[in-house]
Amino acid sequence: MTDFTDKNVLVLGGSRGIGAAIVRRFSRDGARVAFTYAGAQAAAETLFAETGAEAVRTDSADRDALTATVAGRGPLDVLVINAGALVMGDPLTLDADAIDRMIDVNVRAPYHAAVEAARTMPEGGRIIVIGSTNGDRMPFAGGAAYALTKSAIQGMVRGLARDFGARGITVNNIQPGPTDTDMNPAAGPMADTMHGFMAIKRHIHADEVAGLAAYLAGPEAGMITGSMQTIDGGFGA
Ligand code: NDP
Repeated sequence: MTDFTDKNVLVLGGSRGIGAAIVRRFSRDGARVAFTYAGAQAAAETLFAETGAEAVRTDSADRDALTATVAGRGPLDVLVINAGALVMGDPLTLDADAIDRMIDVNVRAPYHAAVEAARTMPEGGRIIVIGSTNGDRMPFAGGAAYALTKSAIQGMVRGLARDFGARGITVNNIQPGPTDTDMNPAAGPMADTMHGFMAIKRHIHADEVAGLAAYLAGPEAGMITGSMQTIDGGFGA
């Protein structure tokens, strides 16, 4: 446990999966937490009832709404940018609009949200993006556009770490491997294929990713910045 009492935390995309685990972790550790979601109102309400974290409906693909939500919750001690979409398949037949929306949510939104948060973030603030091990390795067909979005996060995190480092703000990229969520269920049809690429052949628990986020947000991680923190059971090893 890390003591986040009095810390103001916003998790973008927090209603389900990894984001919900991060909301639970920071709430349990004493932070004042809010989270966004785009569609899953019932899940958001359940998480609010469980944790007391405020749920704010904001589609990350809507830049004006996103930056207004980030600015309205500030100054933030911790911004976690988790909201993400996954569109996979044959690039020759995938819907181009769905690809562009994924790029909006996975790339454009993290950039604009991070910059907006940094306007008022205090000394020692933390910006954490949830990328993917697929930013480093895409070992099967059909994931080119998704990998594109997660590789883009790597460059962004390195650059923003330079931009905000003088203020003691760290910017880091957590890169999970297969993690048991609605997006990638441990019992899903791709599970055996994915486990075949891993040294430890099981899905990661969302709580394990949340623990890494808490570490990066905590006082011991003040000199970790511009880094890729991979938690993938050896998927990319
Ligand atoms: P889920 O689909 O299980 O949950 C996604 C969460 O993000 C939901 O709370 C969803 O809310 C929110 N969200 C999605 N799109 C938007 C949007 N446009 N605006 C606001 N909120 C949004 O995904 P995971 O928990 O599995 O994934 C979370 C992150 O981790 C993503 O960035 C993903 O790419 C990354 N990741 C996941 C891995 C995995 O194996 N699960 C592996 C590596 C990386 P709502 O339902 O309301 O839209």
